[in-house]
Amino acid sequence: MKPAPFRMERPRDIAGATALLATGGDGAKAMAGSQSLGPMLNLRLATPELIVDLTGIDALRTVREEPGHVVYGALITHADVEDGRVPDVGAHILRRVAGGIAYRAVRNRGTLGGSLAHADPAADWVNALSALGAEVEIAGPDGTRRLAIGAFLTGALSTALAAGEILVAVQVPKVPASARFGYVKHCRKVGEFAHAIGAVLVDPEAGSCRALMGAIDAPPLLFPDAARLFGGHIDAGFAARFDATAADAALTAAGMDDAVDRHVHVEVLRRAAVQAATLFTETRSAA
Ligand SMILES: Cc1cc2nc3c(=O)[nH]c(=O)nc-3n(C[C@H](O)[C@H](O)[C@H](O)COP(=O)(O)OP(=O)(O)OC[C@H]3O[C@@H](n4cnc5c(N)ncnc54)[C@H](O)[C@@H]3O)c2cc1C
Repeated sequence: MKPAPFRMERPRDIAGATALLATGGDGAKAMAGSQSLGPMLNLRLATPELIVDLTGIDALRTVREEPGHVVYGALITHADVEDGRVPDVGAHILRRVAGGIAYRAVRNRGTLGGSLAHADPAADWVNALSALGAEVEIAGPDGTRRLAIGAFLTGALSTALAAGEILVAVQVPKVPASARFGYVKHCRKVGEFAHAIGAVLVDPEAGSCRALMGAIDAPPLLFPDAARLFGGHIDAGFAARFDATAADAALTAAGMDDAVDRHVHVEVLRRAAVQAATLFTETRSAA
């Protein structure tokens, strides 16, 4: 199918984009890499009167490395991260995630901002950046604001973006050298969206652990303090104490009724914990 007719504008700055989107109201849509919006237009699942192409805005391509975090412009592509053209927040942490998204052709065009704004519960950045505790920067006709990613993602395919607002950047905390990040995506074939995602950010020296189960038809289920999933405390042997029953109970409480589905998600989280633990072992043997 072909898209319904629409008008297209290509502003050169953020203020121009937000003004156009605010004037267009519900009939206007931002476009970044078009890897999600394009198919929606073709299938006429989206029929905007105005498309505001963000790709002419250089300010959305910048990356700032600051003491505790890295701020990525919304137009940074998955391939920019995969290829190391932008700094990572830890040893190959984002790079590994980027390399597992779709196919290279999609990664060349798809953007961090577009992926977060689309808010597909199975999207890799939605889950990985939630596990890492990212914040988003938003610009609109009335100025800018910043939100924790958990407050930004309000539901499946739904965000806190108001009319006329765009996501301008995502700020991701740097991962301390003592921490490790396990990220496991379960899908039937390479390049597919995930059926289940598990992520574990663990720092045994600090005794801290964040864990996440994603691709659950809702924003990710985050455990900011995941010690209860690992016998109540975090140390180097944490993964061996993974409590599948506690993880299963959390999914049930979140409304996941299907026992097989829960089993897959719990197993994927266990594998993410094992991956994080294995990364410690590998670093110690290499030292
Ligand atoms: C075959 C295929 C396989 C895929 N597999 C995966 C996968 O395995 N994992 C995965 O995570 N993703 C996958 N994707 C999605 C891909 O990562 C998309 O790039 C991403 O979801 C959307 O990014 P985009 O830049 O293309 O955004 P677009 O498609 O341009 O926009 C998507 C939505 O976000 C809005 N938007 C875009 N940018 C902004 C902004 N800065 N501010 C406000 N709103 C904005 C648009 O209005 C639109 O509603 C796949 C896509 C395809 C086509």
